[in-house]
Order: sequence, then C-alpha cells, then structure tokens
Amino acid sequence: MKYLTEYRDPVLAAQYLDEIKKTVTRPWTIMEVCGGQTHSLVKYGLLQMLPKEITMVHGPGCPVCVTPTHLIDRAVFLAKQSNIIMCSFGDMLRVPGSEKSLLQAKAEGADVRILYSPLEAVNLAQQNPDKEVVFFAVGFETTAPANALSVIQAHQLGLKNYSIIASHVLVPPAMEALLSDPETVVQAFLAAGHVCTIMGNSEYYPIVEKYKVPIVVTGFEPIDLLHGILMVVRQLEKGEYKMENQYARVVRERGNLSAQEAIKEIFEISNRMWRGMDIIPHSGLEVKEKYAAFDATQKFNVPLKETKENESCIAGAIMKGLRKPLDCINFGTACKPSHPLGAPMVSSEGSCATYYHFYSALNEVEKVEV
Ligand code: SF4
Repeated sequence: MKYLTEYRDPVLAAQYLDEIKKTVTRPWTIMEVCGGQTHSLVKYGLLQMLPKEITMVHGPGCPVCVTPTHLIDRAVFLAKQSNIIMCSFGDMLRVPGSEKSLLQAKAEGADVRILYSPLEAVNLAQQNPDKEVVFFAVGFETTAPANALSVIQAHQLGLKNYSIIASHVLVPPAMEALLSDPETVVQAFLAAGHVCTIMGNSEYYPIVEKYKVPIVVTGFEPIDLLHGILMVVRQLEKGEYKMENQYARVVRERGNLSAQEAIKEIFEISNRMWRGMDIIPHSGLEVKEKYAAFDATQKFNVPLKETKENESCIAGAIMKGLRKPLDCINFGTACKPSHPLGAPMVSSEGSCATYYHFYSALNEVEKVEV
C-alpha cells in the first residue's frame, strides 16, 4: 500500500534505530509536539526501542487537552438552553468542565450531537430553522480551515441560526512559550507535519534562530518518527540548529494557501488561555468582528464564572515536557478513560490515554505500579 506499509517496514525501522544508536553519544531530550506522534511512538513501542540517551517528552499538541475549562463551561451552558443544538467532535463531549462535561449535559437532556465535520453543522442549521445550531470548533491550524469554511458557507447561505465557539490554538507560539520557560528541558522538537501542511515551514525559522534549537517537521508513521529523531540527533550531536522537513512527501514550504486564506478571512490572532499552560501571547484564533454574528460567545449572553481545575491533575507539567503520564498518582486508578480527571485521559491524542491504552507496550523503565 503506497504511503502506509512502507512507513511501517520493520527492516527499515531497524536500520534507522541502528543509525540513531551509532549517532548518539550523550543524553538528549526531544519533544514531539503532536499528540498523534505521541500515539504512534507509544503504540508501536518506539519509546522502548530508542537508546537510553534519548528521552522523548510529550508536547501540548492535543486540541482537546488544551481547550480551556471556561470554554467547556460556556458550551455546557449553551447546550442546556432549550433552543440550542450543540455540536462538536466526539472527544470534546467527554472533557470535564468546572462542573460537568457536554456528555453529562446530554445525559441530563441537552441536545448535544457528535459530528465529523463543521459543514454537517451548517446542514443541521439549514434543516432546523427554528433552532440555534452551535458548533464547538476546537483544534490547531489543521481544523481551523474547515471551521472557517463553515462560517463562510453559513454566511453565503444567509443563515442566521449558525454560530461557533472558536477554540483554536496555534502551535509555533506554544513552542516559543515552552522554550522561554526557564524550567524547560526541551532541546529539540519534532514538529507536527499536518500543521505544516496547512501553514508551511516559515513560522519555524525564527524559532530555530532565536532559541538555537533544532526543529524537524515529521510525519506520524514509525519510519517518519525514527527518521525525524535521527535527523534531530544528528543536529544535536554536531551542535547545529536548523529547520528540516522529514515530511516532504506532504509538507510544502508555503503550505496550503487556500486554507490559509480561509483562516485569515474568518479569524484573527489573539492571546489565548491554554488549559494547564496559562495564557500564551498570540496563540489563539478568534472570530473577526465582521463575522460576530457567527461567534456564539458574542451572539449569546453567556455568564462568565470562575472555573475550577482538578488540582491533582498534572496535565500542564506533562504538556510542558516536565513530567510523564506515569508520574501522575491518579494514572490508571482515580483517572481512566472511563472516568477521566483531566483532558489528556480523554482524547486518542491525549498522552495519558495513549499510555493507558498501550501500557503493556511500554519500556520496563517507564513502568510504575498502577
Ligand atoms: S492521569 Fe489523569 S489526572 Fe493524571 S495527568 Fe493524566 S489526565 Fe490528569
């Protein structure tokens, strides 16, 4: 199968692992930014195959994990209004807010629906003119174009009953925030290939220069990841810092210009609260004033209230690379996918859920009593 089996080839994987082992001479800490990459690293047992000098830490690249509590609370509040149909991707329904999740609101009678595309929500608005349809639009640069297109389409159709809760975050400012943190342990990044498919590589060059840190844009299959790690380790060992593109079969230098245009039409950059990571400057996308009629937070009068985080959840430290899921005292006991205490235990891209599902594949070194 073109572009799949060849990227899971065990012989090639062994060659890359051998090359990494020959290249590495000192300890290095590398962060894979994307939760999809974490998923592959754990699922395919790559963490346990890497030489002990290499520590992979897991970044904030799970959109569900970083969605701030106050937006979940807003979504729950709106979902409970009798004339509103609240829609989102499946994982968002299970993330705990201050008091409850959207799934709990649904169990209590709210009209909450799982959709696979925001364009389905636009269709739903057309089919239900007597209802307000709200799409909880979460994600990184990858989902922002489709969510922007849903607003463009609703605008073109003249719909007055469609709006979104925009919860978009941007990867490069988060990487800068991590590198600016005096506590950081990150010495190099594997950057998320699908984000660069949309945005291109240009945003990474200034980060490489400013922080003197290697960044390799990497795909999601085992060979992609091992190749990306090898490229990073070669730079680290030589004392170099460059932006390199391992995922050239997909990522182009300037990205997808049409998708970027859609984002620019609907959204503007803003400071943004990341769950577990505080406010990161210029790291979010808000709906522009011109399209305020499609911004659920402006359209509806949602009372702002104080949000509560679960203080025993160490998700923030995990997403900064300072801790790992198995360091959490709640892992696998008080916190499981069936009753998550924190967002990283919810989504398939959340590092805690990934460790939970593939726990048996982890290195003995990574294991603790659970
Ligand atoms: S195991 Fe649960 S409580 Fe612990 S960090 Fe992960 S999500 Fe939070």
